Amino acid sequence: MSLDALYPWLFTTAAIIWLIITWQQNPPEQRAQRTPEIEPEPPPFLPNDIAVEMLDIGVMYVSAEGVVLHHNPALRTVLRIDGAVDGQTIMSLVRDHQLDEFVRDTADKRVNDEMLFHQRNPSRTMRVVARTMILPNDAVVVMVLIRDVTQINQLERARRDMIVSISHELRTPLAALKILSDTIVSQPPPEVAQRMAVRISDEVDALTRLVEDLHDLSQIEAGRIALQYAQNDCIAIIQQAIERSTLHAAAHQITVTATYPDDLPAVMVDRGRMAQVFLNLLHNAVKFTPDGGQITVQARVIQLPDETAAVTNLPPDHPAGEWVLLSIADNGVGIANEHQSRIFERFYKVDQARTRGSGTGLGLAIVRYLVEGHGGRIWLRSTVGSGTTFYFTIPTESP
Ligand code: ADP
Repeated sequence: MSLDALYPWLFTTAAIIWLIITWQQNPPEQRAQRTPEIEPEPPPFLPNDIAVEMLDIGVMYVSAEGVVLHHNPALRTVLRIDGAVDGQTIMSLVRDHQLDEFVRDTADKRVNDEMLFHQRNPSRTMRVVARTMILPNDAVVVMVLIRDVTQINQLERARRDMIVSISHELRTPLAALKILSDTIVSQPPPEVAQRMAVRISDEVDALTRLVEDLHDLSQIEAGRIALQYAQNDCIAIIQQAIERSTLHAAAHQITVTATYPDDLPAVMVDRGRMAQVFLNLLHNAVKFTPDGGQITVQARVIQLPDETAAVTNLPPDHPAGEWVLLSIADNGVGIANEHQSRIFERFYKVDQARTRGSGTGLGLAIVRYLVEGHGGRIWLRSTVGSGTTFYFTIPTESP
């Protein structure tokens, strides 16, 4: 056998001897006293040590007794540990029987296995993969990889919910279209056919709105909509929005009025997107207000944090600076407390039966993205039976 072929064996044997000597000289209790800043070099028997050190997945090598022999820097981040890691038992590090048993079991059975590990306070889910390594002297070391999958799980759940909601939203108008078109095929009297045709047109409009809202939302969420900021006359935006909603409001004898100071400053906004925000909120106000109702739009300048106390329910995380505070108040059906925190969620609708005209449940989610995209915030105050006021802020200067 050549010296080249012998070299890996010599290296591994030296590594194991080193490990045993270090282990005996420096038992776990003493290692726990070490200053955590100085990470020990990984024992040389560990494979791919540079790659492991650079991974953003937490990795630790654990003895069959459940004691950590070595770990990479990411492990501290994943498990949120500040103190010593090497020389500690898994139990003392994570205080979780399940993970401790899992690693010991993997070592006992000399297998590879994986599990989901749930941590409380803060609630997190981690995927743990354990690989048993058998050293030439038959000692068992378990390589444990830990990855925080909380966010991935949340995204996956959101994706599943989204698909359920979309199919639900599509099913209702499609079922209506099927019944309406079947009725027309059966050649009813012309006046019935005419009524059906009008309803088909309405259902197609609702479907089109849903598809447009979905497209908008997906573009916004993917960060594909770049806001085109420019100085805009705030009064002109308000007046134009009111003009555009007058027809809809007048059809229900609802009056829309606006009050604002004449010297309202220019705002730094994407004009088209801000018009979309106003129209959405005004459209909702009309939709959820009984015939003969009243809608009031108000605007004023506020300086934050100086005027924080003077603003109704201002969100605590509102950025400082100069803002135009807008409110759109109706005297409609109102929103019960338990729904108020959820109405900005995608597809969240309080009660289909209360509404005049169908909705997608996406409008407020889009509005919130757009307002927050401008750096502002949107919130509301509402009393069932008395009405709802939506407040939002828009910047007077570039964000
Ligand atoms: P939709 O398309 O259903 O109107 P939105 O996202 O715009 O969807 O609104 C979500 C829900 O919030 C509505 O279904 C409604 O229940 C409630 N809502 C929104 N605006 C008002 C309002 N001005 N008055 C009462 N309820 C409202």
